[in-house]
Parts: sequence; structure tokens; C-alpha cells
Amino acid sequence: KKTITRLPEWLKTPIPVNQNYKKIKNDLRGLNLHTVCEEARCPNISDCWGGSSKSAATATIMLMGDTCTRGCRFCSVKTSKAPPPLDPHEPENTAEALRRWGLGYVVLTSVDRDDLADGGARHFAETIMKIKQKAPAMLVEALTGDYAGDLEMVRLVAMSGLDVYAHNIETVEALTPQVRDRRAKFHQSLSVLRAAKEAKPELITKTSMMLGLGETEDQIWHALKELRKNNVDVITFGQYMRPTKRHMPVHSYITPDTFDTWRRRALDMGFLYCASGPLVRSSYKAGEAFIENVLK
Ligand code: SF4
Ligand code: SF4
Repeated sequence: KKTITRLPEWLKTPIPVNQNYKKIKNDLRGLNLHTVCEEARCPNISDCWGGSSKSAATATIMLMGDTCTRGCRFCSVKTSKAPPPLDPHEPENTAEALRRWGLGYVVLTSVDRDDLADGGARHFAETIMKIKQKAPAMLVEALTGDYAGDLEMVRLVAMSGLDVYAHNIETVEALTPQVRDRRAKFHQSLSVLRAAKEAKPELITKTSMMLGLGETEDQIWHALKELRKNNVDVITFGQYMRPTKRHMPVHSYITPDTFDTWRRRALDMGFLYCASGPLVRSSYKAGEAFIENVLK
């Protein structure tokens, strides 16, 4: 198997730090929120937390613990069949902390909890409802798992008051069995996105793909067509980066030009907006993108 170790130049650029970011980081102290931005040492933190204004600032919060019941080959989150129980105070505490933080756009995500009868959907929905009660102007995106194909749970989250429903297909159909946990299926993920849109047509639906796993152009086209058939509004593309040597190797580093080409192709196919670049993650500057493309 081909393994590439040396990073190309465009992935080595220094991370700029802006003033708005520093202020927001100060505000966060003492709020006891677990941001994926900080815990994953995301290189975009200054762009996202800084934003063009506080109303566009974006952060990603991890709910339902740090232990997942699944084991995807690209992901560094730890795995267990029986993670610790949910914290019943988390919805209230998260909403209160976010209200005090006062950022414009929050992405809520979670590990997959196949051990719970509802996959954690009620807990997720309750958190969204509490945020909307305490901070009605805050835009909320939920990045959920597939609830093992239980579309009732998808509808429950979709109807909880959120603005954007995100679920990641992660890769093309052909590579799904090698890349994602065996319980994750390409068509199951499409039905999650379709069910969210059908439950509430004004919801924005969103997905994300990693490139550099060995996918072909035709396979990417196929995925994009399937997504549009299911009325998915937004797509993001980013480079797959191997978290540790135990994870899947990178097949190739996609150039910034190629990312830009896929962004243009996605827009031509009718996606409402598309973030695409080597360091893009599904939540990359999501607040700014929403304000510019949906609220305009
Ligand atoms: Fe946080 Fe996502 Fe932005 Fe990274 S891309 S800083 S995880 S909001
Ligand atoms: Fe990671 Fe999500 Fe897969 Fe769990 S389901 S291993 S958190 S990508």
C-alpha cells in the first residue's frame, strides 16, 4: 500500500491569530465547554472563532462524552461498546454556557451512541431547544450520526429548532466500507439527509467529504449527484489527514487548485454553497457562510 509521509507546502502554512479570536478564547474560560476546535487543535480556530464579526463567529461543541461506540478508520476519537452514561445536566449547562459566550453560530456534534435506545437523539434535541430558548438569535447546526437508520430519531432532531442539519457521508460510496465503521452505509447516510429535509423543508442540509483517500473523479461525481437527488444544500471538501499511524494512510494530497475545481463544480450542480480546501473541516467558517449565502 502506498504511504505518503511528507507534507506538501500548502499544508505547512503558519496559523495566523487575530484579535477577535483572543478575546473569544478569554470569554470561554470557566464556561466548561468542550470545543472540538481546541481539543482537536484545529488549524482553523482563528478563522472560525475570529470570524468577520462576533455574529459570524463559529465554534464546534462536542456533546455526549468523548467515547464513541463506533470505530471509523480515519477518526481519533476513542471507542468502547459501553461508554459512560449521558450527563442529564448537559443540555441545560451547554445552553447556559453558550448564552454567556454569545457567539453567533454553534455547531453541535457528538460521538455515536449505538448503546442508547434512541442513539442520544432526545438529549441532542433537548440541547438545541434549550439553546434556542436562552439565545434565540444564535444559529445552530447539528452534525449528527446516522441513528443506525432510525429516521424517527432524525426527524426528532430536525424538528428541534435548529437551522442546519449536517450529516457527513465522509467519502464516496465505493470506499465507505473501508473508511467508515461497518455500521455506517452510504445510502443510509443519504436517507438521513433526505429525512431531515422532508421533516422541515426550510432546513439547510449539509454534508462533508474527505478527499485524498484514493477516490476517483467519477466516484466523486457519483456522490455529488446522489446528494443533489436528495436535496442536500451544502457540501464541504477537505483533505484527509491521518491522525496516527494506526489510522488509514493518506493516499494522496489534493492540490488547492483541485479543491477549487470541486467547489466550482459543486456550485454548478446547484449546491447553495461549498467550502473546499486542504484544511477545510465541515464546520469551517460555517457562520460566515450561512450569513452570506442563506440570510442575505
Ligand atoms: Fe472549530 Fe470546525 Fe472551525 Fe475547526 S473548522 S475551528 S473545529 S468550527
Ligand atoms: Fe469518529 Fe464519528 Fe466514526 Fe465515532 S462515528 S468513530 S466519532 S467519525
